Amino acid sequence: MTSFEHLGLPDPLLRAVKALGYEHPTPVQTQTIPPIAAGRDVTAEAQTGSGKTAAFALPILSKLDTTATPEHIQALTVAPTRELALQVAASYKALAKFMAKPPRVLAVIGGESIDQQISALHTGVSIVVATPGRLLDLVDHGDINLSTLTTLVLDEADKLLDLGFSDELTAVLQALPSERQTLLFSATLPPKVLVLAEHVLNQPVTVQIEATASSVGGIEQRVFEVDNNKRRTLLQHLIQTEEWAQTLVFSATRRGAHNLAAKLRSAGLSADALHGGLEQPDRMQVLRRFRRGDLAILTATDIAARGIDVPKLDAVVNYDLPRSPQDYVHRIGRTGRAGESGVAVSFIDHESAPHFALIEKRAEVQLTRERVEGFELTGAAPKNVKGKAPVKGKRKSKKDKLREAAAAEASTAAEATTSDAP
Ligand code: AMP
Repeated sequence: MTSFEHLGLPDPLLRAVKALGYEHPTPVQTQTIPPIAAGRDVTAEAQTGSGKTAAFALPILSKLDTTATPEHIQALTVAPTRELALQVAASYKALAKFMAKPPRVLAVIGGESIDQQISALHTGVSIVVATPGRLLDLVDHGDINLSTLTTLVLDEADKLLDLGFSDELTAVLQALPSERQTLLFSATLPPKVLVLAEHVLNQPVTVQIEATASSVGGIEQRVFEVDNNKRRTLLQHLIQTEEWAQTLVFSATRRGAHNLAAKLRSAGLSADALHGGLEQPDRMQVLRRFRRGDLAILTATDIAARGIDVPKLDAVVNYDLPRSPQDYVHRIGRTGRAGESGVAVSFIDHESAPHFALIEKRAEVQLTRERVEGFELTGAAPKNVKGKAPVKGKRKSKKDKLREAAAAEASTAAEATTSDAP
């Protein structure tokens, strides 16, 4: 097994990874640190939870020129959500802790004072981690000088595009020196991400970390057949019998996440919801409470939970199924982080069973259906009447509704992140 020493990292960074308890580099780190340190452009397909932040932060820190005073921007990381941007900024700081002169790191995000960010930029910053809306605001007003930048990281590129940040990215790219190193990290590499990579990267090294659900190490996947209206009590039952200290529960809609948390609280559990409809300070507070362990259950929508890093998460529950197999892999990656074990649970009924079968097929897993006494699925699977095609457009299917709700959630989350000018 490769060691961090073998990756040629300088001593202060080796001390930092040790202090953080990282014993060995993760696969994405082993594969991307050497080409990044060598100055190559890199496209990496890697999930949140794979150790991707350190995979780009370590080589960036190792190459930083720390002699300039005042400091000037050398590295910019663009992330899709405020939470992720704050998390990445915190990682840079933690990894830089033992450097002789730790660089100044600034999170440029909406929902916080732009004036403070501008004055921090004036006093000198080496590393900026930004969400596209606020960054573009600063670029447009000439409040940020990116001409000295040497490395650009597009983090969670698939989500940046899913959230509709393509135009912001194009505008930001125009403000950057064309001579630079560009790194693109993405949980999935659909065609639109590949097109972006084609445009912004120069002869990149491509790294793919197996992203099938079956290979998400340390995660036990289970699926329960349960009636829709018994899901909440089954969830409570599982939390109790399986002794999950911290559980992340995915809901398809904001309202679903909100109502579920309220009902769990009424049942005496410590639960709260995280979704795009909350004000930024409230989102931060909920996340902090969950991270600190003050909150046992967090109900969340996909977008709000994107990139959440909670060490030692016991369980992830698909209360509503994700829309795509990629989202499934992404969701379950929230548990069993960096070598720890965890469980990912999905609830299905007659209606959602075919969709789950599709997820399994694409994710290359086949799970045994479980039923829990007292919470059994009732009724029979709807029969496909031969010769009579299902009538489309008459009544929205549950899947259509889930899709619409998730799309609405995604667009408001994008708005929340872009419309953050003061
Ligand atoms: P990320 O994929 O960057 O969100 O990282 C996921 C989690 O893994 C974070 O809590 C990191 O602190 C942790 N981590 C990153 N690299 C390692 C490593 N080499 N060994 C153990 N944990 C790690």
